[in-house]
Amino acid sequence: MTPRMEEKINELLEEAYKRGKEAIPSGHVATYIPELGKANPMDLGISICTREFDHFNIGATDKRFTIQSISKIISLAIALDMFGPDKVFERVDMEPSGEAFNSFVDLDTKSNKPMNPMINSGAITVASMLLGHVSLEEATDVIRKICMDDEIFMNRQIFESEMNHLSRNRSIAYLLESKGLITNVEETLELYTAICSLEVTAESLANMGMIFANDGKISRKSDDRIFSKRTTEIVKTIMLTCGMYDRSGRFAVDVGIPTKSGVGGGLISVADNLAGIGIYGPALDDKGNCIAGTPALMYLSRELQLHLFRKDSLLDRLITLKLKAKLI
Ligand code: GLN
Repeated sequence: MTPRMEEKINELLEEAYKRGKEAIPSGHVATYIPELGKANPMDLGISICTREFDHFNIGATDKRFTIQSISKIISLAIALDMFGPDKVFERVDMEPSGEAFNSFVDLDTKSNKPMNPMINSGAITVASMLLGHVSLEEATDVIRKICMDDEIFMNRQIFESEMNHLSRNRSIAYLLESKGLITNVEETLELYTAICSLEVTAESLANMGMIFANDGKISRKSDDRIFSKRTTEIVKTIMLTCGMYDRSGRFAVDVGIPTKSGVGGGLISVADNLAGIGIYGPALDDKGNCIAGTPALMYLSRELQLHLFRKDSLLDRLITLKLKAKLI
């Protein structure tokens, strides 16, 4: 990339960072898992990985934090590749819930299966499908590969802290068992919580986002892939409709990039075919999403024209220019 192009993206990133920082004082770190309460709410890191695997970073992009609910997209993708969409969606629906991530109201009153795999009830159901087929080590390896990050390990303090404060997820899991949707409740909860406790960085999430943007392939040139094209299409669609819980609709309108959040403060965004964006900011909004993320992503989406329904992306033009520059 020419210095001018790099400068342009870095300028935009700086402004996005500034806008994100301004939103932080209205947010709060999660405390229902006590260990998460120790995070520094002022931390913010934003990382962009373009389809040429060029990285643009600002702030705390190499700070480790737990992946939490972002792991739901990986567990879903593994299950889709392993069992196929029909089997998976027999047990969990694909409708936005409009309820909090840890709600089980709909499950109890409206439907006989969780509304979608991005909320806890859906993700616990997916984890129970994986149990006995995929070990924690194997799931960790997939996450290392897709994040292009060999340093991903479980944070044991956070894992234990969540296991000791699991009443809500345990209630969900027993309700799922009562409906015949899962078995081995305690083992399922352990696998689900352990995967949530794996530590990533904003930069590793940007890589993961880029691989999803690439339809599961690890580079545009090779055929080496982590997930099938169909699987990544399904996951990206569900990220768009359900990835930000009961803020997914507004977020899709304002930002228009499939995104998944985690209560550890992570966000992963997939600008299809163009870039992955990873954000770390542990101060959360009232829905449990990184509060700095929305203004930062809104700005980047507008300036780089990353909204799903915007055609002429500036980032696309910059990357294409780079390719042309290489050819000359
Ligand atoms: N491990 C967390 C939980 O189950 C994940 C929730 C989240 O990131 N939204 O509550």
